[in-house]
Amino acid sequence: MNIILLGPPGAGKGTQSARLVERHGMRQLSTGDMLRAAVKAQTPVGIKAKAVMDRGELVSDEIVSELIDAELAAMPASTGAIFDGYPRTAAQAEMLDMLLAKHGRKLDRVIELAVDEDALVDRITGRFTCARCGAGYHDRYKQPKAAGVCDECGSTEFKRRPDDNEETVRTRMQEYRAKTAPILPGYEARGIVAQVDGMASIDDVAEAIDDLLA
Ligand code: AMP
Repeated sequence: MNIILLGPPGAGKGTQSARLVERHGMRQLSTGDMLRAAVKAQTPVGIKAKAVMDRGELVSDEIVSELIDAELAAMPASTGAIFDGYPRTAAQAEMLDMLLAKHGRKLDRVIELAVDEDALVDRITGRFTCARCGAGYHDRYKQPKAAGVCDECGSTEFKRRPDDNEETVRTRMQEYRAKTAPILPGYEARGIVAQVDGMASIDDVAEAIDDLLA
């Protein structure tokens, strides 16, 4: 199975991808995670991308498509792929079709996480993750069970994304509306889009996605 999780920032793409990896042994291909790793490692791509990401704008189509190409080349064709945060433009959607063909894959589903945009700013600006294992938390909705200690791995270090501030989030939403949402009709015409209520609880969204993939 090859699926795209599509939705604005904060819709739950990363959270649901992690669930799919756990339950179905699929692989999450998050261009955001790949770019953050490149920024951390100060690679040429990371150095170029950092300022763009800090503003909440989109990195070039070529850069992200090359990252996806390299990941697909490195994984067995039998392992399912979850595209999280890619494609984000019409050009990327076209490149993805080419890359899937190149790597002997086909796109099975586009799952659109439908969300109320006003709630997203609140979701995003409160989120943080364990610095060691990446487990996700939230100031209001999901604090660790023991204050300051990760439920999953016991680490006491947490981190926040520098682009999870209100101003950048607004730009990221605008980018989504202007450049990413317009790719949906093309997928709808292919009859592969399913909408899931992204405002439901994490477990309910996961169940709805499971039903779609069954
Ligand atoms: P994300 O973690 O998916 O929210 O991505 C964080 C940031 O990385 C975005 O705001 C963009 O600056 C950049 N980015 C991630 N994926 C893409 C993509 N497919 N195309 C362009 N920019 C991207």
